[in-house]
Amino acid sequence: MPTNSHVAPVIVASENGRAGAVAAMELLRRGGAAIDAAELAARVTEDDPEEHSVGFSGLPNLLGQVELDASLMNGRTLETGAVAGVQEYGNVISLARAVMEELPHVLLTGRGAERLAAELGQKPADQRTLASLERWRERFVEKGVELTSDELCHLVSRLTIPLHLEDRVPHGTVNYLVRDVHGDLASAVSTSGLAWKYPGRVGDSPIIGAGNYCDNRYGAVACTGSGELAIRVSTARSLILYLKMGMGLDEAGQECLAEIEQLQPRVGQYMNIVAMTPDGQHSGFSTVADKRYLYYTGEMAEPTLGERMTRVSSN
Ligand code: ASP
Repeated sequence: MPTNSHVAPVIVASENGRAGAVAAMELLRRGGAAIDAAELAARVTEDDPEEHSVGFSGLPNLLGQVELDASLMNGRTLETGAVAGVQEYGNVISLARAVMEELPHVLLTGRGAERLAAELGQKPADQRTLASLERWRERFVEKGVELTSDELCHLVSRLTIPLHLEDRVPHGTVNYLVRDVHGDLASAVSTSGLAWKYPGRVGDSPIIGAGNYCDNRYGAVACTGSGELAIRVSTARSLILYLKMGMGLDEAGQECLAEIEQLQPRVGQYMNIVAMTPDGQHSGFSTVADKRYLYYTGEMAEPTLGERMTRVSSN
């Protein structure tokens, strides 16, 4: 697949991607590859102790364990790697890259991914956010509800208890879409998923085609929000296919929002999408109002926030 030379580098990210975007842009300006910049950007976010949706400081599951998911995709080769449900290793984006480059596989889960991390010489560490679980349990006690972990697991599988106790279940993810100076695209997604999830729950972030997809010919797409929605309609790959079939970027994003709306999301569920085409056009979409995303091109002094489009009804 031929690539252009000397196009402006571009990074598109979720709103929490500023520090990673700055680090990755430095690399791109020096001629670095999109796949390296995407991995670096996600690592910077994973290492940030103040970032509570990604990496070691992510939000825990119902048993107080942080379980991380990540994926990385190379738009030039369509190679991809992903890990899901990883405990005690924070840089899951680099594990996803190792799956892509060192194994004949695409997705590793839990124990297997942790074994690979150990083989690669990564050091296991305790996660830092068990306090978040305690704060949540205190909310039950305040409301006169005392539940064992087993009872909690049972109830949360209906997703009713968290929604009664919180305005919405906290979660978050970081997305990076990158174009390098050669015109190659790459995408990276890293997350601790939905807070207080049922142990073993996997969202859209490591599911290629749902929360992440990248193809030099058509563009790159990544998602944040309630991963169950993006999995049900394969949001990332769908948007790419709409581009392939000739839709413009905004039209393709609107089509994906319509598909998610048709799922009739539960209270508190929503979906955000970022997308970029090979010519560097970018856009953000959301099923809810007032959401933003970041973009940063080689000509800009710093990353800037853009508004995400919501659904424009056709009738
Ligand atoms: N999409 C992530 C998941 O479902 C969570 C998020 O982005 O807030 O695991």
